[in-house]
Amino acid sequence: MVRKMADTGSKSWAATVLTLYPDMFPGTLGQSLAGKALHDKIWALETVDIRDFARDKHRNVDDTPAGGGAGMVMRADVVGNAIDHVYGAKVSGDDPDKMDKRPLIYLSPRGKPLTQARVRALSDGPGVVLLCGRFEGVDERVLEARQVEEISLGDYILSGGEPAALTLLDAVVRVLPGVMGKQASGEDESFETGLLEYPHYTRPAIWEEQEIPAVLTSGNHKKVAEWRQAQSEELTRARRPDLWEKFRKESRQTD
Ligand code: SAH
Repeated sequence: MVRKMADTGSKSWAATVLTLYPDMFPGTLGQSLAGKALHDKIWALETVDIRDFARDKHRNVDDTPAGGGAGMVMRADVVGNAIDHVYGAKVSGDDPDKMDKRPLIYLSPRGKPLTQARVRALSDGPGVVLLCGRFEGVDERVLEARQVEEISLGDYILSGGEPAALTLLDAVVRVLPGVMGKQASGEDESFETGLLEYPHYTRPAIWEEQEIPAVLTSGNHKKVAEWRQAQSEELTRARRPDLWEKFRKESRQTD
């Protein structure tokens, strides 16, 4: 069953999620920024229940791993049919304009780690089709035959692709035009500049005998900007030597 969380207007950025747990959606994406944007049709979300594409009488979606070992593997035929259903639905004749050009991404710990640059690139496209794994993962043949791109959230193992899909969509939706109140607020965030973000403060002016750094209440915008830049650089150097190295290399090139 294909369930639309909001009408897929042709102009909206469109996400289709292939999952064994459609009830996990929209989940966190139904609230706050993403939820409002979904309601406002800035983006559209539909789920496809992979189990609907199981053809045997027990509706099996998984089977034991070839070669033995623990766990179960999602079947290539079932997953392949679910994928083809999604892409087939939008293809009408040979008209290239009617083709579904959205990338097909399998959330997987073997994938390329998700970055803010990839998030931005996805937000610039027409949308995404996400495949959520369960058990030990998906039969390799379907990943190859359907040219699936693999993306990882990080070097740890989740119980399924759904929380990863929710996270990826959260990151992409927040940078879609019109989602953040002030578009600028996304631009000096951690990673957008290649550096971690500087620390934030707000009222009260004194809390547990601690004051806000004086420069921030000085009214001198140039000094504030310099202080923030220095803090960003210091934090990145101390916490993320990998990012710091990259930042230094890139700023040397532009000098
Ligand atoms: N046996 C696999 C892990 C399977 S976990 C391995 O060792 O590589 C089950 C599913 O959770 C995966 O198919 C994938 O869709 C999802 N998943 C687990 N960890 C993930 C991560 N770090 N990033 C994205 N998806 C992940």
